[in-house]
Amino acid sequence: MNRRPTGPGTSDSSEAPRSPATWDLETFRKNLEEHIEMLREDEETTVPPERLMLQLEHDSEFLEIVRNWERLEEARRTDAWKRALAIADKHAREVVPVCLRCGECCRQGSPTLHLEDLELLKAGKIPWDALVTLRRGEPVHSPFQERLFFLLDERIKIREKPGSHTCLFLEDGGSDCTIYDDRPLQCRAQACWDPTQARELAEQPYLRRADLFADVELLYELIAEHDRRCAFDRLRDAFERLDQTKGESAGEVLELIAYEEHFRGFLQKKLNIPQETMPLVFGRSFAELTALFGFRVETRPDGTRVLIAESA
Ligand code: SF4
Repeated sequence: MNRRPTGPGTSDSSEAPRSPATWDLETFRKNLEEHIEMLREDEETTVPPERLMLQLEHDSEFLEIVRNWERLEEARRTDAWKRALAIADKHAREVVPVCLRCGECCRQGSPTLHLEDLELLKAGKIPWDALVTLRRGEPVHSPFQERLFFLLDERIKIREKPGSHTCLFLEDGGSDCTIYDDRPLQCRAQACWDPTQARELAEQPYLRRADLFADVELLYELIAEHDRRCAFDRLRDAFERLDQTKGESAGEVLELIAYEEHFRGFLQKKLNIPQETMPLVFGRSFAELTALFGFRVETRPDGTRVLIAESA
């Protein structure tokens, strides 16, 4: 490694080395966790700490050290500790090609659904109110490249936890998928050590609202009408003008947001659509989407609305 982390029991520690000879298993684990935290800073580390811990728990040599630690003669513990550090260093650089259910993929974004996932929806394995539609033109993150791109066609995704990219179905504070046996196609194909299968999945047909609602009388026509009148491009153009006019055209953005809100509310009432399924049926509201442009809408005590830059 280019920048060798220093740690307890290592000879290059800036502190006086504490001898592993006297450690009980709890101290061994605590110092190992500290070492793993330090590995996070190393430029050759590619495996996040949570996954690294899981890899260690599946490494037979490491498990043997842990199993025997309390029984080891004190004189042999330093060697065993150095071996444990070397194993941790190795795992920090290499993702083991097997899914350890570390939840790392699930924290980087929720899955996009494919037509094949329709069966899971029909069987009630994935509730409809856990979904959101990203409409044509909306910006999304490419899972394969560090850049945004604009959708040429809509996508239906599982929703993410508020203020994060974490999938709604990842257990709170843990790494378990709460629908693991019924997880969507993308999750089954996802492999953090090899993106090939996930890339190939892009060739499979995606699920669209037409697959869900084309047979529902009136609904699909009104979805199309909402898309026509309130296309995402209109919002993007209004924000572009806001930038060009240095904020002078804020009224235009607010009018557009109000118009979309009114239209969506009218359709919801007319069709009696539960609030929880609105993000699937009509996508995210213009008011919600302002966050993509770095703004939020605030309502003043007198009822007027203003656009606030998020950094303000
Ligand atoms: S559905 Fe399950 S496996 Fe898929 S991203 Fe969400 S938590 Fe992870």
